[in-house]
Amino acid sequence: MTLPNGLSVEAAREQAARAYELDRRHVFHSWSAQRRIQPMTITAAQGSYVWDGDGRRLLDFSSQMVNTNIGHQHPKVVAAVRDQAATLCTIAPQHVNPARSEAARLIAERTPGELDRIFFTNGGADAVEHAVRMARLYTGRPKVLSRYRSYHGGTETAVNLTGDPRRWPNDRGAAGVVHFFGPFLYRSQFHARDEAEESRRALEHLEQVVAFEGPETIAAILLESVPGTAGIMVPPPGYLAGVRELCDRHGIVLIADEVMSGFGRTGRWFAIDHFDVVPDLLTFAKGVNSGYVPLGGVAIAPRIAAIFDDRAYPGGLTYSGHPLAAAAAVATITAMAEERIVENAADIGERVLGPGLRELAARHPSVGEVRGLGVFWALELVRDPATREPLAPYGGTSEAMIEVVAACRDAGLLPFVNFNRLHAVPPCTITEAEAKEGLAILDEALRLADRHTLP
Ligand code: PLP
Repeated sequence: MTLPNGLSVEAAREQAARAYELDRRHVFHSWSAQRRIQPMTITAAQGSYVWDGDGRRLLDFSSQMVNTNIGHQHPKVVAAVRDQAATLCTIAPQHVNPARSEAARLIAERTPGELDRIFFTNGGADAVEHAVRMARLYTGRPKVLSRYRSYHGGTETAVNLTGDPRRWPNDRGAAGVVHFFGPFLYRSQFHARDEAEESRRALEHLEQVVAFEGPETIAAILLESVPGTAGIMVPPPGYLAGVRELCDRHGIVLIADEVMSGFGRTGRWFAIDHFDVVPDLLTFAKGVNSGYVPLGGVAIAPRIAAIFDDRAYPGGLTYSGHPLAAAAAVATITAMAEERIVENAADIGERVLGPGLRELAARHPSVGEVRGLGVFWALELVRDPATREPLAPYGGTSEAMIEVVAACRDAGLLPFVNFNRLHAVPPCTITEAEAKEGLAILDEALRLADRHTLP
């Protein structure tokens, strides 16, 4: 038997063992206590599946870091990267390059409203850094407001803007960042009983934060259109429109972080399209080219871009709009359009994943809530359905969560995991049969979670 990369299982195992040994000796891993981790080796990937170091196939319900929207090893994207490598591997950002120009056109064509100028970065965090820099230069104001329960990246400003425990060891306190609570009805900060009340009270809260911080000191409000790692909390009707109105009233720039939610993940090109709201700046990365080559960027409204018409923008990167990454974006966006991949994400969400996950929630007491859109779903696991006590504490894990995740993996499923949540975030290309395969494995694994849950 051979794997999709052409290696026999035996050869793949040998390669994996050597890679693991070298990794543990030389590779320093992100966000980890180096001695405590046992990273999984992946030797091959195809479509919705990956193969581990033992040659076992796993259904990828994580899309890795929620980035392989087009699935693994899409032949058109692989070919585009190969062709671009043969043509022109790299070129400095000050020169015009056909792959970059075309990628910018395809992105600008899809971003909401008039956002039609694209600044390319290497990934999501630096896209956020630059969006914030642009907002500060545009307004001449220092502060940025962002949500608790958010993730915006690992670089200095981005991690300080982040509203999860990864910020704490990096917190400067003086980064010009103020956090607020966004809407999250299941764990409402506002004692709301329904979505309308949650939306209204979350907006009142934000309005108060703006008033007490001093609107003339606030450059931007930054939020994920649908927060991803923090729990896939789809905003209730009216919330994003209310934030837009608040920004307009006070001359504050609205930055939508679509690094995780963009490029088909929610069943639309951008998550904010569900809410008919146009931000002033939009950050993207991940799904723009499914991470085949690192790429991110900022889509910029004309009035913000215009302040840099006759004055230099003070920022740049050696690899801004790197040809290999740009070619991968052109091929990805083109294939997504031709193969109706965004429509597939919407359809699988509506017909298979949404109803299937809700059905699991109805049968498993450990599932406190299911929420999401498209191929972007969270299962909130609880120890007590009445008090909603999470199955693992905020910022931590638990024996129960470790057991559930191990059961998923043993049965051939790779979910995305954060604290007490499992996220079902497969590629946008997933088929109905694959989605059902994942649901069946989750069904079995959740029995273990149920054992830790009060009846
Ligand atoms: N913003 C959001 C919403 C993200 O989900 C992430 C990464 O998960 C980032 C920013 C940071 O992106 P990167 O890891 O490419 O720097």
